[in-house]
Amino acid sequence: MPRASATTLAILAAIVALAIPILAALELAQHQSLQSEMDRALSYATEIMVRSERTAAQIDDGIGMLVHTRNASGDGPCSAAQIALMREIALVSSYLQAIGYVSGDQMLCSSMGLHAGGLALGPVEQVTKGGTKVRNNVSMATSVSDSTFIVVQHGEYAAVIHKSLPIDVSTQEKDVSLATFTPGYREFRTARGPAKLEWIDAAQGREQATFFDGEYVVAVVQSAQFATGAVAAVPVAYLNQRVREFALVLVPIGLLAGIALVLVVRYLTKLQQSLPALIRTGVRKKEFFLGYQPLVDLQTREWVGAEALIRWRRSDGTLVRPDQFIPEAEENGMIQRITRHVLQLVAKDAPEILRRRPNFHIGINLSSADLHTPDTVKLLQELLRDAHAGPHNILIEATERGFMNTDAAREMVKDIRALGIDVAIDDFGTGYSSLSYLESFALDYLKIDKSFIDTIGTDAATSRVVLHIIQMAKSLNLKMIAEGVETEAQEKFLREHGVQYAQGWLFGKPMPVADLLRELAKAKSVQAA
Ligand code: C2E
Ligand code: CA
Ligand code: CA
Repeated sequence: MPRASATTLAILAAIVALAIPILAALELAQHQSLQSEMDRALSYATEIMVRSERTAAQIDDGIGMLVHTRNASGDGPCSAAQIALMREIALVSSYLQAIGYVSGDQMLCSSMGLHAGGLALGPVEQVTKGGTKVRNNVSMATSVSDSTFIVVQHGEYAAVIHKSLPIDVSTQEKDVSLATFTPGYREFRTARGPAKLEWIDAAQGREQATFFDGEYVVAVVQSAQFATGAVAAVPVAYLNQRVREFALVLVPIGLLAGIALVLVVRYLTKLQQSLPALIRTGVRKKEFFLGYQPLVDLQTREWVGAEALIRWRRSDGTLVRPDQFIPEAEENGMIQRITRHVLQLVAKDAPEILRRRPNFHIGINLSSADLHTPDTVKLLQELLRDAHAGPHNILIEATERGFMNTDAAREMVKDIRALGIDVAIDDFGTGYSSLSYLESFALDYLKIDKSFIDTIGTDAATSRVVLHIIQMAKSLNLKMIAEGVETEAQEKFLREHGVQYAQGWLFGKPMPVADLLRELAKAKSVQAA
């Protein structure tokens, strides 16, 4: 994937990761607010309901007592004893204003006494399922105040109730609407604040319903026991206020969750793009291949071997140089995975090469970690078997750093040489190794680092070091390979000083195996001719 679109994708992912928790927080705030306002409306409606039910119970009790006493005594409905009882009932029933005897639409007597000529109640407005008759707007001429009353009639008796009594509950907000109604009737018995009849419809006769109609959060409840219902409605402004309060708490939490999510996403992508992960997928996708750089015999200029140098072509086409990933792979513990892969690649390429040149040798670079893993010897044995190669066809190159620690490396070199495979010390002179240190190893070749070859023919202060190195190799009986030879002058100098082999752009750059095979075929036909 091109870098630009990957970045765009990452930014988009981050925006989504941030937006989702924030949107979720807003959604939650909305939901929580609606829930809490519905709960509030429901608690008001329930309170009204409780008062209505108590009122209904007191009416039932009072009328029941009057009927019972009259039947028992055989008194007339407006006898002195009955009126006294009415007075007593009105006094003890906190929700009842008065209770009396009705004939037609006239109240003939009540807890307030005998009504000479009767008290006109007006026509019955509602009749409940149980046969209770309700008048909702009765003004009482005898009343001290001129308020209107609700008159609830069972049979011949009726109770008088203050219209505002059931809805006289205290709410924190004055603009919360409260109302009562008689189930089965599409009208309000009493109401405080604006109330819509659609609310009764929306409740559909359920015992309890809460909803939001766009303007109000509404609760409608209906008594299971008495013919009474109550409504409470909270204006939308309170809902919005509540949403803001919740959002103020939830949105920052959402933001934090979003940031955490972004960090997790970033961490996971990093992990996925980390070198070990990339190397693993690289091996799986066959992104690695080998470049073979020829090694010449300085006497004949004949190609006698080649060094296998790893190349990594990423899926996006970029070529990663080994200098860019080998050191990091060494630190990350991935180098052995790479070495194993290099050995597999060599095993695949070698048979073709060796068929053309049975004495050719292939140089393989081992890292310090490889020299400290007993597995390596086993892997080399497998290589010889899989590549149909003899030990003289393989040359192991290990840097000074590889030999640095110790006896373990010394043992490993011994084991490799015991297989018959030659070992070279690579990049010689760039580390700290001294002659005496080198003496403690039994080795076959010394590779003179390019930095020393570069000084040949110059008057740099280090230009004499190459002679010291050559001297040292001779005294230790090591064959020499000069690295990075780029000029004829360097070649001539090295040959004259007894260096046997060389490698460098003067002779050939690292090349794909197909090119190496072609070059070998060409050289052979020249020899033959
Ligand atoms: P090295 O083992 O010293 O390999 C020689 C490096 O010098 C190679 O670079 C080669 O391309 C370059 N070279 C050869 N002749 C010339 C020349 O005439 N002029 C110039 N300027 N350069 C020349 P390369 O392939 O980039 O490899 C760099 C290093 O990566 C190697 O240094 C080696 O230490 C490491 N490496 C490469 N392949 C492997 C591998 O398969 N395993 C391990 N462990 N390390 C590897
Ligand atoms: Ca090397
Ligand atoms: Ca080298």
